[in-house]
Amino acid sequence: MSTKEQTYIMVKPDGVQRGLVGEIIARFEKRGFKLVAMKLVHATTEHLEKHYADLKGKPFFPGLIKYMASGPVVAMVWEGLDAVKTGRVMLGATNPLASAPGTIRGDYALAVGRNICHGSDAVDSAQKEIALWFPEGLVQYSNAMEGWVFE
Ligand code: UDP
Ligand code: MG
Repeated sequence: MSTKEQTYIMVKPDGVQRGLVGEIIARFEKRGFKLVAMKLVHATTEHLEKHYADLKGKPFFPGLIKYMASGPVVAMVWEGLDAVKTGRVMLGATNPLASAPGTIRGDYALAVGRNICHGSDAVDSAQKEIALWFPEGLVQYSNAMEGWVFE
């Protein structure tokens, strides 16, 4: 059964520098997801090491942290039916060369180390990432299009 979820989506520094913020937001908006938090942040190394704690020890970890700390990111929380899984499908495969055209990475990226966006991989990791990036909490409001998107 599909459930209403929240997922953490982030435009990485290369996505910001390449002017893809609006494009990525537009895809989530047009799909019908509700934006419940958003900010532009230049994250510290310590913060990024917490975000990617599960990958500590991987050979690409130091390069990943350097890349993610190289400029600001756009941190967002999107809400809707199956937001976590659907968000991952919209992003495409981790390696953009394996991402289908029509996905964000499949349309705009080529290299795994410059794959322009992040999306939570499970409901529990989404909750952890949302708490890490938005300790101040999310924004509560009712969305006028809700009745047109959900039964
Ligand atoms: N990454 C990398 N080399 C690899 C695997 C991953 O540089 O061989 C980077 C890539 O930017 C990826 C991030 O590390 O998005 C996190 O890896 P993960 O396996 O969690 O992929 P994701 O969840 O982002 O698809
Ligand atoms: Mg991941």
